[in-house]
Amino acid sequence: MATNKNIPEVEWEYAPSLEGTSHIQLKKKYDLFIGGKWVKPSSGKYFQSINPANEEVLAEVAYGSEKDVDIAVKAARKAYNEVWSIMPAAERAKYIYRIARLMQERARELAVIETLDGGKTIREARDIDVPLACNHFFYYAGWADKLEYAFPNRKVESLGVAGQIIPWNFPLLMAAWKIAPALAAGNTVVLKPAETTSLTALKLAEIIEAAGLPAGVVNIVTGYGDTGAAIVNHSDVNKIAFTGSTNVGKIIQKALAGTSKKLTLELGGKSANIIFDDAPIDQAVEGIVNGIFFNQGHVCCAGSRLFVQENVAEKVIAKLKERLKTLYVGNPLDKNTDIGAINSKEQLATITKYLEIGKQEGAEMYQPACTIPAKGFYCPPTLFTNVAQSNRIAQEEIFGPVLTIQTFRTIDEVIQKANNSPYGLAAGVWTEKGARIFNMANQLNAGVIWANTYNKFDPTSPFGGYKESGFGREGGVHGLAAYVKFV
Ligand code: ADP
Repeated sequence: MATNKNIPEVEWEYAPSLEGTSHIQLKKKYDLFIGGKWVKPSSGKYFQSINPANEEVLAEVAYGSEKDVDIAVKAARKAYNEVWSIMPAAERAKYIYRIARLMQERARELAVIETLDGGKTIREARDIDVPLACNHFFYYAGWADKLEYAFPNRKVESLGVAGQIIPWNFPLLMAAWKIAPALAAGNTVVLKPAETTSLTALKLAEIIEAAGLPAGVVNIVTGYGDTGAAIVNHSDVNKIAFTGSTNVGKIIQKALAGTSKKLTLELGGKSANIIFDDAPIDQAVEGIVNGIFFNQGHVCCAGSRLFVQENVAEKVIAKLKERLKTLYVGNPLDKNTDIGAINSKEQLATITKYLEIGKQEGAEMYQPACTIPAKGFYCPPTLFTNVAQSNRIAQEEIFGPVLTIQTFRTIDEVIQKANNSPYGLAAGVWTEKGARIFNMANQLNAGVIWANTYNKFDPTSPFGGYKESGFGREGGVHGLAAYVKFV
C-alpha cells in the first residue's frame, strides 16, 4: 500500500482530562475498625499514607500492635460465636449483598481514592478494581445460602475467625476477594491492608458500618509487617489468607507449620506471555501492553516474560516499540494516562535496581522517550531484548513495567522455557489454533492460562498458583472451599 508522503507525521497530544477529587472525603486520621467501632491504636502511633503520584500526605493511619490485633480477634470471635455463625445463611447473604450495593453507590469515590493512595491509573481503578470488587461481594452473596449446592453430598462448616493480609497492588479488590467468601461461608474476619494502601479498606469499613453488619464480623487493623505477623501468630485465628511476596509467604508458612490453622498463599509470579507466528499480531501487541504496562507491572500475574516465535520476533518487537512510544506515563488521575505512578519509593528503587542488573547482565534495554513528572515515583515502560534464560531479570519478580523478551522456535522449547521458573501463577498463549491452546494449557505449569487475551478476571473463576506462587485458590467455588471445613 502506498503511503501519502504529503501528509506529515502527526504527534498526538491529548488535552488533560483529570478526574475530580472534590467529591471524596478523607479524614485526616484513621483509627482501627474493631468490634464495629473506630478505636485508637493502643500504642498511640500513626503512620502517613502518601500519594505516590506527587508525594503529598493523604491521611494518617493507625499503627495496630499485637495488643490491638488481640482485641480485634476477640471481637471477631465474639461476633462469630454469638451472631454470625448462628444467623440463618439467607440473612448473611443480605448483608453481603448490601455491602456490594453500597460499594457500587460509592464506586467513583472508591476509584479516586484507590488511584490517589496507590498510584494506579484512574482508568484501571474505575473500570477494573472497583467493579470487580463489587462483583465479588455480589457473587459470594449468592452462595451464602447455597453451600449444599456448592459442595454437593458433603457437609461443610465455617472455620471461625479468618486472618487476612493483603498487598498494595489491588487494595480494595484484594479485600473483596478475601472478605466476601469468608463471610459467605459464615466466618468472621480480621483484615490487614498493606501499609502504603490502607485507605480503600478503611472506606470499605465505613461501608460495612453503613450496611449495619453486626459488630465484630469484619475488623480492619492497619499497620506494618509486625501487625500482619501478630495476626498470623494469634492462637485464636483459624485461617490465614495471605497475598503478598514469596518471602513473607514462606515466613508465614513456617510460622503455621504444626498448627491447625488453614492457610492459603497467593504469592509472586513471573508469568510467560507466548506469541506464536499464527497469532493476530496487533491484538497480541495490545495483550502484551495490557499484561505488563497498563498496570505499572503491579500485578502478581503480570505477563513479564514475553516469548515470541522467532520468525515473527522482529515484527512483534518493532510493533511493540512503536506502541510503547504512544503510552502516556504520568498523573494517574488523568483519564488518558496509561502508566501511572509506582506505588512507593521503595518499589521504584527495586525496579531501578533491576534495570541496572539487566544492563549488567548484557541485555539490551529500550525505553521510549517520555516526559515523567518531576515529583512522584514513575518508571517508563521498559523492554529488555537479548535476554538469557538464566538472567536475573528473566527469573526474578520485578513488579514494575519491565518486560523481558526471548524467542523460541518450537512448542517444546517454549514450554520448557516458560516452565523454567520458580513461579507458576499465570500464562498467556496467542495463536489461532484451538488445539494448540489446549496442548499448551495442559503443559504450562501455571494456575491461570489466558488464550488470546491477558489479565481477564471474573468472580466465578478461580485464581491461584503453583510452586513459589503459592497454593489455594481465590474466586469461584474454589475460593469458597478455602473458608469451610468438610465434616
Ligand atoms: P510486597 O512486597 O508486595 O509489599 P509483602 O509480602 O511485603 O509484599 O507485603 C504484603 C502484606 O504482608 C502487607 O500487608 C505487609 O504489611 C504484610 N507483611 C509483611 N511482613 C509480614 C509478616 N512477617 N507477617 C505477616 N504479614 C506481613
